[in-house]
Amino acid sequence: MALDPKAAEYLSRGYCQETLEPRECEYLLTFGDKSPVARLAVSLADRLNHHMCSETGQIMATIDVSTGPCYRDCSFCRWGESRSHDVFKDIEEDILLRYVEELGGFSDVKSICLNTCGDMSVDRLADYVYTVKKNARKGTQVFVDTGELSKEDCITLKDAGLYGAIHSYRIGEGTDTGIKSEERKETIRNLVSAGIAVTTGVGPIGPDHMPKDIVKTFFETVDLRCCRSMVYPREPVPGTKFNQFGRMSPARMAQIRAVFTLATSRYNPPVREPAQGTFVNGNNIAMAEYNGNDRKEQLYSARRRLFNNGYERILKVDGSTTNLTLAYLRQTGSV
Ligand code: SF4
Repeated sequence: MALDPKAAEYLSRGYCQETLEPRECEYLLTFGDKSPVARLAVSLADRLNHHMCSETGQIMATIDVSTGPCYRDCSFCRWGESRSHDVFKDIEEDILLRYVEELGGFSDVKSICLNTCGDMSVDRLADYVYTVKKNARKGTQVFVDTGELSKEDCITLKDAGLYGAIHSYRIGEGTDTGIKSEERKETIRNLVSAGIAVTTGVGPIGPDHMPKDIVKTFFETVDLRCCRSMVYPREPVPGTKFNQFGRMSPARMAQIRAVFTLATSRYNPPVREPAQGTFVNGNNIAMAEYNGNDRKEQLYSARRRLFNNGYERILKVDGSTTNLTLAYLRQTGSV
């Protein structure tokens, strides 16, 4: 049986780097995640991603530098102050330095993202950025994933050595989150105007979200001159109103990610780098949560994911690449 003709046309256009309209993305998401349309979307997006990053994957390590209950109290988040029993804690500098040194071992962790929760002072965060930038391998890009920032805050972080920031625009911003939609976008604009490379995103996506909501949220940020975008699921958190819905299936997430990858295949990011890939993060960017006792296993797993997903090379901190082979996995202790 032939593929739905309208869907086939949209998929072909996305693959040929023609922009897709929101209503066309919505149409593609009316097909189930096991349908031929979904399978083709995933395959085309994956091929495009492999091509656009020249078969090169990269690793981003994330370090929690500040944890604790968050006064924004978003209704899906485990850190929201109405349900979190965590205490406020900032990472100690000697631990941060140890992590940074470990991550530099094979010069293949291209970026380190410092995560914060709650109401961390920008000056304190700038100190962390400076420490990581000064001690990490030359060429390591330092990112932050933090709260809302003014223009001045962004300049302070940039001066401390910040390269990029993760700042997504969430589904239900202003209703399911404690942050107004415009405030969220204003932070993205402030980051971009300070010359900081922004990875935006759409999420957290749950099985209860309709294609219309997901598409609308994604398109809110595509004109804000961000460099990349993430599409991510919502984790079920006991005690939240969303827990009953569970987690979106990996197949449906892959389909949503694929449709947005094709929809923005024409996008030209403001910062071009080696191994940039598609605007929507594909499997070429492997995240490693570098916290606590299993941190090294997270890094090994990130290398294995890149290998398992067929990337032939891995990006080094200096912008060069090395072959991602079984021998390399062995050499780095990843198998
Ligand atoms: S702002 Fe971030 S950390 Fe705070 S409650 Fe919302 S999602 Fe959680």
